[in-house]
Amino acid sequence: MTDIFAPSEKRDSFEVDQHITASSRYYAGRVGSRFFIALRDEQKILGSHCPKCNLTYWPPRNTCGRCFSQLSESDLLEIGPLGTLETFTSPNYTPPQPLPSAPVLYGIIKLDGADTGMAHLLSEVDFEDLKIGLRMQPVFAESPEANILAIRYFKPAQE
Ligand SMILES: [Zn+2]
Repeated sequence: MTDIFAPSEKRDSFEVDQHITASSRYYAGRVGSRFFIALRDEQKILGSHCPKCNLTYWPPRNTCGRCFSQLSESDLLEIGPLGTLETFTSPNYTPPQPLPSAPVLYGIIKLDGADTGMAHLLSEVDFEDLKIGLRMQPVFAESPEANILAIRYFKPAQE
């Protein structure tokens, strides 16, 4: 009998090609629902604030990552809309629709009033002009839906 968990330099390896397309729907939770509805209906960005740790999370979360306190809708506050670019990249990869084709620019933006950053698309800027610390502003969709693409992308702020 072959022990499949034994060290096996002699075992053949192989690769499997497959293509998976999956759709899903999930409940965004009380805090997540408020976040997406505020984005869609008011173009407001909400973060959740842990009063015990004095930390504000973006995107908002139900649980503080430091002290594990439960955070609720009453812990939501408006943050941004301006923020600071913490890092960026340009992967040579075309993400699935409805995202734009490669080359795309991604960055992590820490909004004013938040202690965490979140990745999002960057546009209206060349990769060569990006730099850590650049001030950024969101560009909202004209007909936003209740998802993160209510913010189409971030661009350098015109302060
Ligand atoms: Zn906390």
